[in-house]
Order: sequence, then C-alpha cells, then structure tokens
Amino acid sequence: HKGGVICISEVIDISPFIPACWWDQQIDFYTTFLNYLAQVVPEIYFAEMDPDLEKQEESIQRSIFTPLEWYLFGEDPDICLEKLKHSGAFQLCGKVFKSGETTYSCRDCAIDPTCVLCMDCFQNSVHKNHRYKMHTSTGGGFCDCGDTEAWKTGPFCISHEPGRAGTTKENLRCPLNEEVIAQARKIFPSVIKYIVEMTIWEEEKELPPELQKREKNDRYYCVLFNDEHHSYDHVIYSLQRALDCELAEAQVHTTAIDKEGRRAVKAGAFAACQEAKEDIKSHSENVSQHPLHVEVLHSEVMAHQKFALRLGSWMNKIMSYSSDFRQIFCQACLREEPGSENPCLISRLMLWDAKLYKGARKILHELIFSSFFMEMEYKKFFAMEFVKYYKQLQKDYISDDHDRSISITALSVQMFTVPTLARHLIEEQNVISVITETLLEVLPEYLDRNNKFNFQGYSQDKLGRVYAVICDLKYILISKPTVWTERLRMQFLEGFRSFLKILTCMQGMEEIRRQVGQHIEVDPDWEAAIAIQMQLKNILLMFQEWCACDEELLLVAYKECHKAVMRCSTGFKSSSKTVIQLCGHTLETKSYKVSEDLVSIHLPLSRTLAGLHVRLSRLGAVSRLHEFVPFDFQVEVLVEYPLRCLVLVAQVVAEMWRRNGLSLISQVFYYQDVKCREEMYDKDIIMLQIGASLMDPNKFLLLVLHRYELADAFNKTISIKDQDLVKQYNTLIEEMLQVLIYIVGERYVPGVGNVTKEEVTMREIIHLLCIEPMPHSAIAKNLPENENNETGLESVINKVATFKKPGVSGHGVYELKDESLKDFNMYFYHYSKTQHSKAEHMQKKRRKQENKDEALPPPPPPEFCPAFSKAVNLLNCDIMMYILRTIFERAVDPDSNLWTEGMLQMAFHILALGLLEEKQQLQKCPEEEVMFDFYHKASRLGSSAMNAQNIQMLLEKLKGIPQLEGQKDMIMWILQMFDTVKRLREKSCLIVATTSGSDSIKNDEITHDKEKAERKRKAEAARLHRQKIMAQMSALQKNFIETHKLMYDSTSEMSGKEDSIMEEESTPAVNDYSRIALGPKRGPSITEKEVLTCILCQEEQEVKIENNAMVLSACVQKSTALTQHRGKPIELSGETMDPLFMDADLAYGTYTGSCGHVMHAVCWQKYFEAVQLSSQQRIHVDLFDLESGEYLCPLCKSLCNTVIPIIPLQHQKISSENTEPLAQLLTLERWIQTVLARITGYNMKHAKGENPTIPVLFDQGMGDSTLEFHSILSYGVQSSLNYSNSIKEMVLLFATTIYRIGLKVPPDETDPRIPMMTWSTCAFTIQAIENLLGDEGKPLFGALQNRQHNGLKALMQFAIAQRITCSQVLIQKHLIRLLSVVLPNLQSEATPCLLSIDLFHVLVGTVLAFPSLYWDDAVDLQPSPVSSSYNHLYLFHLITMAHMLQILLTIDTGLPLAQIQEESEEARSASSFLAEISQYTSGCIGCGIPGWYLWVSLKNGIIPYLRCAALFFHYLLGVTPPEELFTNAAEGEYNALCSYLSLPTNLFLLFQKYWDTVRPLLQRWCTDPALLYCLKQKSTVVRYPRKRNSLIELPDDYSCLLNQASHFRCPRSADDERKHPVLCLFCGAILCSQNICCQEVVNGEEVGACIFHALHCGAGVCIFLKIRECRVVLVEGKARGCAYPAPYLDEYGETDPGLKRGNPLHLSHERYRKLHLVWQQHCIIEEIARSQETNQMLFGFNWQLL
Ligand SMILES: [Zn+2]
Ligand SMILES: [Zn+2]
Ligand SMILES: [Zn+2]
Ligand SMILES: [Zn+2]
Ligand SMILES: [Zn+2]
Ligand SMILES: [Zn+2]
Ligand SMILES: [Zn+2]
Repeated sequence: HKGGVICISEVIDISPFIPACWWDQQIDFYTTFLNYLAQVVPEIYFAEMDPDLEKQEESIQRSIFTPLEWYLFGEDPDICLEKLKHSGAFQLCGKVFKSGETTYSCRDCAIDPTCVLCMDCFQNSVHKNHRYKMHTSTGGGFCDCGDTEAWKTGPFCISHEPGRAGTTKENLRCPLNEEVIAQARKIFPSVIKYIVEMTIWEEEKELPPELQKREKNDRYYCVLFNDEHHSYDHVIYSLQRALDCELAEAQVHTTAIDKEGRRAVKAGAFAACQEAKEDIKSHSENVSQHPLHVEVLHSEVMAHQKFALRLGSWMNKIMSYSSDFRQIFCQACLREEPGSENPCLISRLMLWDAKLYKGARKILHELIFSSFFMEMEYKKFFAMEFVKYYKQLQKDYISDDHDRSISITALSVQMFTVPTLARHLIEEQNVISVITETLLEVLPEYLDRNNKFNFQGYSQDKLGRVYAVICDLKYILISKPTVWTERLRMQFLEGFRSFLKILTCMQGMEEIRRQVGQHIEVDPDWEAAIAIQMQLKNILLMFQEWCACDEELLLVAYKECHKAVMRCSTGFKSSSKTVIQLCGHTLETKSYKVSEDLVSIHLPLSRTLAGLHVRLSRLGAVSRLHEFVPFDFQVEVLVEYPLRCLVLVAQVVAEMWRRNGLSLISQVFYYQDVKCREEMYDKDIIMLQIGASLMDPNKFLLLVLHRYELADAFNKTISIKDQDLVKQYNTLIEEMLQVLIYIVGERYVPGVGNVTKEEVTMREIIHLLCIEPMPHSAIAKNLPENENNETGLESVINKVATFKKPGVSGHGVYELKDESLKDFNMYFYHYSKTQHSKAEHMQKKRRKQENKDEALPPPPPPEFCPAFSKAVNLLNCDIMMYILRTIFERAVDPDSNLWTEGMLQMAFHILALGLLEEKQQLQKCPEEEVMFDFYHKASRLGSSAMNAQNIQMLLEKLKGIPQLEGQKDMIMWILQMFDTVKRLREKSCLIVATTSGSDSIKNDEITHDKEKAERKRKAEAARLHRQKIMAQMSALQKNFIETHKLMYDSTSEMSGKEDSIMEEESTPAVNDYSRIALGPKRGPSITEKEVLTCILCQEEQEVKIENNAMVLSACVQKSTALTQHRGKPIELSGETMDPLFMDADLAYGTYTGSCGHVMHAVCWQKYFEAVQLSSQQRIHVDLFDLESGEYLCPLCKSLCNTVIPIIPLQHQKISSENTEPLAQLLTLERWIQTVLARITGYNMKHAKGENPTIPVLFDQGMGDSTLEFHSILSYGVQSSLNYSNSIKEMVLLFATTIYRIGLKVPPDETDPRIPMMTWSTCAFTIQAIENLLGDEGKPLFGALQNRQHNGLKALMQFAIAQRITCSQVLIQKHLIRLLSVVLPNLQSEATPCLLSIDLFHVLVGTVLAFPSLYWDDAVDLQPSPVSSSYNHLYLFHLITMAHMLQILLTIDTGLPLAQIQEESEEARSASSFLAEISQYTSGCIGCGIPGWYLWVSLKNGIIPYLRCAALFFHYLLGVTPPEELFTNAAEGEYNALCSYLSLPTNLFLLFQKYWDTVRPLLQRWCTDPALLYCLKQKSTVVRYPRKRNSLIELPDDYSCLLNQASHFRCPRSADDERKHPVLCLFCGAILCSQNICCQEVVNGEEVGACIFHALHCGAGVCIFLKIRECRVVLVEGKARGCAYPAPYLDEYGETDPGLKRGNPLHLSHERYRKLHLVWQQHCIIEEIARSQETNQMLFGFNWQLL
C-alpha cells in the first residue's frame, strides 16, 4: 500500500477484519487511524445536500465502526458485545431527558428537588407510592436513579438495583480481559482526540495536515447556522430570496437548522457559495437588524466534522457496555499533553461549547453524561475541571445566544447538588468564592459611580443569564454539611465574605427621591433589582443557616456582616444632627427626611445581619456578641435604614409618592409579597425589634416618630384645616401604629419568640383561612417556599383545618377548624390591606352569627426569646402612653379631625397587648417582681390640669359615642381587662397570685349577664333591620321583573308549559282516552292553544298555520355520537351522497338541537341582519360564522345556525263508527295490494311519458285486478293543510339548512335530497335523545328537558309540513324506494340489504312520506285520521317484523343472559320461528340456540327501537302515552310500549298473524346474497341493541397516561424532538399535535393532526386530552375550540393545567361522566361558543393547527 494508506475501493468490499489486522501492524495508531479516515470519510459524506442516510450509515458501519470494533475486541464484536451486555450494567440510570419529557421527584425522599427520576425508573421505584411531583423537563438533565447521594431512601429502582437477577456478582467482577483493555487504551485516546480536534476546528477551507491525504476538490457548502434573533419566518424569507428556491425547500432547510443548529443550504464552487452567503446575510439583515450566521465550508471539513459527531455517538454506545471503557475514556479526556499549554481534551471541549452549534453540543453533552457522570470518581474530576474554568464558561454563556438547556454551564446542577461533591469543591477549590467572584466580574457593567448596582436600561436576556450563576450558588448551598472541617469552615467564610461584597453593591442600590411638583417622565426599570432579590431570597436564608452551624462561625460571620453594614452607613454618620423633645425625653439624631432625601428599598446587608442576629438569639449566643463586636455596635445606625424603608412604604400608602409613578408601587408590593418578604419586609421588622430591645424605649419611639415625620402631628396644639393633609397625617399615623403593633406583637419567628417552624406555618395558614376557605394551591401560593420549594403546608394543615371535597365542578377547599379561630389576629403582619378588611369582616360576621360579641382582641402572643424580651417595654413607656392618650383625646373631642376609627382600633389593639402582657407576667411571677406596669401607667392622668383624664376615663367616654357603636364590644373587652389586671395586682398583695385565675372567671360571669342583655337588644335590632331589608328586596324584585320581562316571561312560559302537560296527564278526563297511538283504537291527539311570546319584541302571538311564522332557535350539526363504527371514512363533501337510507352502524347523522327560545320569524330575520351588519364593522375575530348562518341565541347565547318554524299539531280524532266496517275490510294483505295498485297506477301514468320512469320492478302476478288506482282514496281522505306563506318560507329555509349542513354542500333549495335529510334528522335526533335518556337511566317521557321537548315537537310538525311544501312526485319516488325494503314484490334496483340499513330511519321516512300517495291529479289530498291510523299501523308492523329479523339474524350467541323459564310462550314461538328462518338462510344462522335465549335477546335488542318509535309517534300525533312511560319503571316499560304501539307483547305473534303475507317477504330478505355475505362478515355486522358509546376508558393514575405519551412516536417523522401527544377521547387515538410533520391539507387549507382527525372521528366535533399538559380541549370545525377542565384531580380536589404544581393526579369519575354527557347531549359546540363569549380576549390560539 502506497504511502501507508489503503485504497478506499478495497475497503468497501473487503472484510472489516482486514483494516483491523492492518492497524494492528502499525506502530502509531493515531496517525494510521487519521490516514484511514482521511481516505474514507470524505467518500462517505460526499452528498451533503441530499444524502441517502441509510446507505451512509451502512458504509460507516462497514468501513469504520466494524473494523474498529474488531480491532478493539480482537474477535467478532457482535459476540463480544452480546457477552458484555449483561455485565456492564450501570449503577446509575443516567437517561438524558429530552425537552418535554416528564420527570418525577419524590418529596419524601429526594435530597433536593433537582433529584429526578425518568418515567421507567419511577414506575419501578418505591417512590411511586410516596408524595411525588411530576414535571416537564426543559431538556438536558438526566435521571438520578442509582445515585445514593440523591435519595434519602430508595435510591434504586428495580431495574438498577445492584443485586438484581441477571447481574450476578460474578458478572460484575469479571468485566474485560487484559487485551481488550490494552486495545481500548490504544484506541480511545485517538478517537477522542480526533473528535475534539474536528469539533473545534476553525479553518473553513483547510483540514489539519494529517487529514489532507487526498487530492483537494473544489466542492464547498454554504452553511447556515441557527440563532435566537431570527424567527422561523425570517429565515424562510431570507432563504427564499437568496437561493431563489421554493417555499417547501426553504421550510425543509429551516426546520433542519432549527433542530440541528446548522445545515448546508447550497453546494458548489467556492465563489458560488460565497455569493449565496452574502445574499443570505443581506436579506436577513433587511428583515431584522442582525445578519444570519453563514459560513462557507470545504466539503471535506464538513464531512469530518459530521463524522466526528457520529464517532461520538459510537463512543457512547461502546461505553455503555463497560465501566472500564468509561474509565479509560475519562482518563484519556483528562490527560494533559506533556509540554503543551493546552488544557486537557475535555476542558478544551467545554471551553469551545459556546461556539458550537446545537446538534454538536447535544452529542458532546451526552458523551459527558455517558462517561464522566456515570463514574462517581470521574464526575469529581470533571467537576474540578469545570470549576477551574467556571468563570470563563459563564462569561461565554452570558454572551452566547443559545438556550441555557444546551449550554455546558447547565451541567452545574448535576455536580453542585451532590453533597459530597459540593463539599469537596468548597474545600479544594473554594467554589463559593469562584461563583461569587464570577458574579462580581459579570455584574460591574451595572455598577454606578457609588459602586451600587443600577439596572436601568438592562437587557433582560443578558441579565437572565446572570441569574443562572446566582442559581449555582443556590445549588452549592442546598445541602448543609453535617461535618465541618477546619478547611471547610475557612473556605466557607471566605466565600461568605466574597458574597458580602455583592450584597454591599446592593445595599442602598437604585435610590429614589420623592418627586414633588411634576410627575416623573419615565417609570424606571425596577424588575431587575426585584428579580435579583427573589433569586437571592433562599440563598440569603441558606447562608444564614450555614453560618448558624456553630456559635463560633456565626459570631465571626456576624462580625463581618456588621462591619459591612457599618461601611455602608458612613454617609449617615457624617450628616448633621437635630434634637427632638417630647414628654421630657430628648433624642439627638441625624437630620434626614424620607420625603426629601434619597431612600432605597434594597438593604440586603442590614437584613442579613438581622437574620444572623435571630440565629444568634436562637443559639443563645447574643451575650458573646461583645467579644466580636466590642465597640461601635451603634444600634441606631443599624435600625436607621430598615426604618426608612418602612416609612417609605407608609408614605406611599399615604399617596405622598404619587408622582413617582407605578414602578414604586410595584416595588412596595413585592417588598411585602410572599416571594420576597422573608428577606425584605420581615427582616426590617426584625431589625426594628432588635432596636426596640436594645435601645431606650422612649428614645426608640422618638426616633420612629421623627422618621415618620409625625412629631408635629402629635403636638397637642396642632390644628390643620387642609383636608388632604389631615388625610395624609391620619394614614401615616395608622401605618406607624401598625408597625409598632408588629414590633411588640409579632413573635412568630424562631429566635424572636419561642416558637417552632410548624407553629409559624400553622399561624400563616390560620390567617389565610380566616379570610375565606381556600383550595390547597391558593394556600400554597401564599406561603413562602424554601430552597426545596416546600412550604411545610402538608405537615400541619390537618391540625388547623378540615378538607371539604369538591363537587362535579369547582375545587376542594380547606375550612378552618373552630378551635383555631381563637388565634386570629386582626393585625397580622402579612395581611395586605384588602386581606385585613376581608378577614375582619368575616370574623365579625361569624361572631355575630354565633351570637357573640364583636370584639376581636389580639390572641395572647408567645413569649419573646431573652434577646428580644425588652421590646415589650415599648408598650408602657411614656411616649407610647402619650401617643395613645392623644389619640383617645382627639377621638372624644368633637372638633378634632386628626383621628380615624382605624387608628382607634389600632390603639385599642396596643392597649390590649399591654394588658395581656401584664396579665401574663402577673400570672407567672409574684406581683412585686413584675416591673411591667402598663396598668399603672395607663391609669395615670395625662397632666396636672383640671380636666386631665386617664386612659380608662377616655375609654368610658368613647363607649358613649354613637358613631363608634362598632367598637363598643372591643372597648368593653379592654375595660374588663383593666379590671382583671387591677384585681391581679390587688389580690396578689393579699394572697398568692395562684387564685387570680378563678377570680377573673367570676368577674367574667358578672359581665356575662350584662352582655347577655346587650346581645338580646342587638338581636332584636338585627331582626328589625332584616325585615326592612326584606321589604326593600321585594320592591327591588318587582322592579327587576319589569325591567327584565324578556327573560322572565320566556322562562316562566317554558316552565308553565311543562306544568300544563303534566296537569293534563293527571286530569281524570284524559284517563278515559285511549292511550294507543296506532291503528283503529288510536287515542285523540291532545292539542292546546299555544300562545308564545317572542323573546325579541316581547309580543304574544297564537301559533296557527295561517298566521305569520314563529320560530325556535336551533342548531343543526353532524354527529358521530351513536356510531358503531368509529373513524369510518366520512365523505367530506356530500355532493354525490344518497342519504335516503341510514347505515345500520349510524356512523354519522344529523342532529338538530334547540335551546327552546321562540321568536317571530320577522324579528329573527331583523336580528340576524343586524348581527351581520355589526360584524362587518367589527375588527376582532368573529365568534361565529355568519356566512353559514351562525348566530348566538339572543337570550341564552347558545350557538345556533338556523330556526325551526313552529307549526301547531292538527287535532285528529277517530270516531269509532267509521272504524268498525273498515277493520273488516282493510287487512294487511289488502292494504298492501291497495298500495301496490296505487304505485302501479302512478308507474303506468309516468310510463305514458308524463314523467321519467320511477325505478320500480313490479311483479304483475301479485296485482289484484279488482283493486285499482283510486281504491286507496276510498278508505277516507281529507284535504291537505294550507300553510301561510310565512310558514312555508321558514319551512323551506330550515329544510335547506339541514340539507346544507348534513351533507356539507352549498345550499340548493331544489335539490331532491332535501326531504330525505328532513326525515333523516328527525330519526337521528330521536335516536340520540332516546340513547341519552337510556344512558342516564331516565324514563322516556317524564324526564325530557324543556328544550328537548319543544325541539322534538317543532321538528316533527315541521317534517309534516315539509312534505306538503314540496313536489309530491319527488316524495313518491323516495317513498317507493323506502317501501321496497318492506313490501313484497316491490323492488327497486337499489334496494339495500336488510342488515345494512337502520330501520327506524325507514319507519320515519315512510310514515312522513306516505301521504304523498294520496296526491291525485294535482289535487293534494291526505288520508283521513282513520286511513292514516291504518297506514301507520301496517307500516309499523311491517318494519318491526323486518327489525326483528335483523336482530335475530345478528344475534350474539356468546352473551351470558339470565335464563327465564324455558317453556314460556315467547320462547316457543322464537324457536319455531327461527327454525323456519334457517331454512331460507341455508344454515347461515344456527338453529341450536335455545328459545329463551332468542326471546331475551330479541326483547333486549328491540327496546331502543320501540322507545324511539313511541317518541316519534307521540310528537307526530300528540296521543298521550301510558303512565308507565313517565316513570322510571323498567318493568312495565316494555308492556307499555307494546300497548302504545299496538303490538302484541309476544312479538312473534305478528308473524303468525300475517304469516301468509309475510312469508314471501321473509324469503326474499333471507335469500338476498348481500345479506348472506353480510352474515359471514361476523366482525362488522351491527348487533342489537347497539352498544352505547362512551368516552374511552382512562387510567386512574395520570402518570400512566404520561407513560403512554413518552412512548409515543410521531408516525411521520423519525426524530425525537419534543412532541405534543394528544389523546382523542372518542376513540383513543394518540395524535401528533401542533407539528408541521403531521399537518394535512383539507380543501386547500393546512390543518393540524387533531383537527384532521376530528373531521373523521367526530364529524368535525371532538374532545381531546393534551397529555403532557393535562388539559382537555373541545374543538369544532376548523377554527373553533376551547379548553375544558381535565377530569384529573389531585388529592386536594384541584385540576393542574400545564402540570404546574405537579401533584399526583387521579381520575375523577364524576367529572369524566360530565364530559361524556357534554358529548352525548351534543353540547360541545355550545360549550365552545360559551367559552369564547366569555374569553373574548384570549384569542391568540390558532385552533386550525391543533
Ligand atoms: Zn432512569
Ligand atoms: Zn432506575
Ligand atoms: Zn420517596
Ligand atoms: Zn317578535
Ligand atoms: Zn336560547
Ligand atoms: Zn378519535
Ligand atoms: Zn408528527
């Protein structure tokens, strides 16, 4: 071989063994390998533009991978790999998540929420039964199964358990033989080196010299790269312009670029590619500012880069077989080249990451996952390399424009959250400092000249990338070390110091000054700073927790932090001083005013210090503080900044900062919001508590007064006239009092008060539930989350609240337990203003209902910790007394306006706190030891003046003020408390304090009687008040009825109707009537005068056929609700369809529904025109399609698309005299002969040339010559009805609508199929309603909704009129075809096979069309009542017999049925009948079936048909049905049906009775070859009763569905990118939604897979479940849809759309049932219309592409 290279042509055909052998002989494998690749690779990757991927892959395997594997193993690799398969099992699962995949975390067992399991591992783990969370991965993470550090318990799933069957220890221990390892050591370094070299190769035109072994060709590619600036459409546009290509080609390129990150879009000579490059750049620059990234690459460069990635995947596969391989690979990656400056290979890759395109990154990250991250020891080495280059990597990421999920920096979470690794990285590499210093290096661009951050004009994207670094800080701190080494302590402190540097830049950042005069011009950016606060919240808390690990560490940290705060406060210390005096107390402080000077809401240093102080208090180490902060503690300085911040909040509330715009209001909101408050507001309150406990109380209060700028307001002599100023002062005073209440009263922080974390959470929950009962998610949202996203809610909620389950809608809620109500504190510091007033209102209301007083005193607070105990002295200091007394004095002074009721309430609250404190202390210690003398101070007179009063006297006065009636109970409570404390003081002087308790109870009793009287008086007053209100209400109601007459009338009209029907049933007169609908004994039709009110003009009108039409709003829709053949291809356009016969499978029908609202036809037309007009002027998307006649019902807003004319039922009565003789004459046989004679007559007439022939084959032999053409008329005729033109017009309109929608064709008033569609919708609508009633177990007549009742009535009467208003010849033509099914000797060419048609449709059609036979020489007669009663009877009997045959022929012999007595008459008849039949079918139907079985099957099978027939004849004729059909008695139903329909209960008697007439028919039916063929196709034959449709069965556990979704593969595309699997709830198909790959074109428009599926599956209407989001969507047609609550609930009775909360979800059967009914009631369209009407704003979604 020349030059040591084998020729490529040889390679292709020779055995892979040969190159392997040959490599073996070479000394330097690397060079040899490269030489080989230089030859082979460009050959294989030649056709980049249009590669044959399969062939390419095959060539790689054959010429490269197989030889490599041979070389590695020294024998057949397939055998070797098979052997290894079982031995190299991972300890770890390590499955890498794709974007959109579901991950699971266990809240009980995971070390932190970043520890997740893949679906398979989860399903096989113990955590399945724990409290787990489901989440949707953004891609890039991997499964932690098998990582013992990630789980407290259950680290392995069954398949990754170390000792699991199949992985015996033997296998684990004997991995590879020495030779293979030696080979791997030889091969892997070369492979990885080639991969790295090619991946980071930068030359566009040249290859590295080792690879330049071929003659260089002149083939280049123009390669386009993905970026985040350009939208899909931009790229397509640019490509189309630059390459002059078709849209489709541009789309293909763009999709590939989006997925892979780069793609060759043009091949050719260098110049041509260069030109294309410039074109693309300039075109893309035109549409957006940035040009696209394009390169021109030499074809061989491209080929090698492609192959390098493929080699990476190969390496992945090989490594999955053995731990040794992985280790060898890692070693090769970590090896630094001797004498080279370069970092090791893996670091070079890392550092290059930000420059790589998407596809390359993905493969390289997977390579890291499958090597380093699978071997704990090497993961550590990798982490160390990662930290070594951390700064650079983060900086590259920040200037990169790709998503974080595909950045190498996203791997940090995999390393930093591992506890041992984190500790190692802190100890060895000082990672905390590395991260904080990285932050300090990337943030300076935001520093202002004071060295504080200022984020004005920041870029959200760029700052968002900085957050990722902050996040790393969280990961590294997330698990607190249990063991502290000296080195760890040192490194941590260094990190903490470095972190304080960041906080220093934040302390006081974004200062603001109050705007006076003019409003600010632009609202400053505030979001960035607040977002950083949110990011930092838990990090700050974790730092504090780490510091608190031991006293020493905490004290040092405290010192550092204190120093940092002081350094930031130098400005304050140097300013000038002022002196304030009050009540003989003096304070000297710095001059500063929040309302004039600069102020900032950001004080993380001060707040960290407050946090450390609390922890110091908890450890009991405050006493050692002086050792560390000896001088200069300067508590006033510490308090200063948090105090300013609270004053700022007060001034914002007082509207003093109005002109500073909305940004400030937002900041103040977040300052107190649950997302930030722990490290903002709460800590400021704590800092004030520190101040209050360390400072002299009077001085402290003076400082507070001064900072609130209220010293003047408490000057006695002040008198303000300006109302605005009064209001401002009052608000400020209220705000200040509230803060004072918090300082003294809020002790629910462990370390401030003696409380546990659980107690704190419980108290938060109690106060939330005092506002109102809340669902779980709302409570959770209002509680702060810790670093593990836990709120601690579940562990305590059941102690304070009870869960109330949800109904069919809504969600479950928690209600507070009664015993927790006593903990309610009106001035709970986390209440917002509205929450405060809501809670106060609720609690007062509750107490009133319980007949209790309305006082809401504070609950006794827990004890302060010693470090804070002095804070209570604030209550009984002189200044506080002065403040309280001043407020009370102003309240009793009629001239003063400087007080409010709210202010008084707060003052009462403070009084109550003081008294409670003294009482508690007195109960604990001997009186003389209690120095807290609140009672004494409050009893002192305010001054020595004559009119001086003490607080109790003032309270007595307040009690008498009528406007303060609402406060009376509270004043009473306080006065009583004064009494109690007084007694305690006095008592204990005499006796020991122990008895004081019982005494106060006695005292309580005395006042109790007084209270009782008072309460009685109040109750009486309340009663009178209620009476008054009731009177007002009824007056209002009257008024309401008048103004809303429209609605009231029509609803009362409807309900009135229902009543009247029911009444008639119960009147005795009716009982005398025959309740038989068919035949000579037919009962009278019950008709009544109908006077209806038009909902539009409110005028009444009687419904008469000669009057102008009144109409019912209605909606016609196609439906598959009854289908027995789901997904049967539907003809999208019915141009050529013949709808006369309905298929037996009812695959799709036309349903007519109505909301039951009545209008004048004229009024409706006007309304519709008005809607049309207004929509032309509207811009927004229309809710409905006016073109196809859609509108919303003016009253109830349901979607309608037509109107049904209301036509009165014609009264018909049969007089018995006429029937007797006729009964003798008109036998079935004679009737048939008469009918046939009539038909023959028409036929002959037509044959004479009057009309084209009707397709009738007529057997002359059957005709009886005595019967002639006119004899049908001799049984009785009457003249046809004459409808008003208005009614005719509406009949035509409605009939055309049914035709148009039912067949999906353009309207055509003359189409011959219009009558067919009328009959079809009548039959189908009845079947749908019957099916629904049966499904719900309701009686046939008793339970119809008004809208169903009115709709059916109008529909049947319309159908009668429809015949009269169209051509009788046409109707005859249809009739004859229908009759050909059931009349002997009448056969049209197209008579269908008996088994393939629905006979109820035939019944409806023949009955409605039959009168057309009476049409004679242009005179339209119709049968008299007697004639028609016979017509109905015989038609019904014939069709019923046909249906019986249908049922018996298709009987399912496999069904288990309850046996009734063998020898029943019916059973015998059945047996003999079937014996007869089987003769005709030549054995096709088995005769061995027992008679009873036949009979039971027949009865079950025929009932739905009988029920439909009863509904039909009832609404056609108005004959009252038997009582049994109104009640829910299944027993009597069958007999009642038979009686109403004139059938013998033993249906076989029909055949016996008509045997001679029917026998030829039976013969004809049974010998029909089509029927015999049908019978043989056992699987497709429709059986009776038809099965009732229901939505598909769903699993109880939602994760099962997710599991299904994870296995879902798009049928059209092979890639594994994120898909949106959507489940059709009608048929269970899983579809690939919202994806181009599965779009279809319908009528030239692109529609998504779901919409396309819906067309077939639900005739356009469908219900889907978006599996990954747990959302149900309803869709209709192409452009409409809406979301609907999914039937899955978590244990708290809540749905979780989007799986945001991730709690386990289970199926709610009630809700699923409700969804089922929405479908079966044909209400999907209505739901969509309603939701669109209410959510007009949310219109963004393009339903068409679903
Ligand atoms: Zn897994
Ligand atoms: Zn596993
Ligand atoms: Zn668990
Ligand atoms: Zn009207
Ligand atoms: Zn309506
Ligand atoms: Zn479906
Ligand atoms: Zn697809």
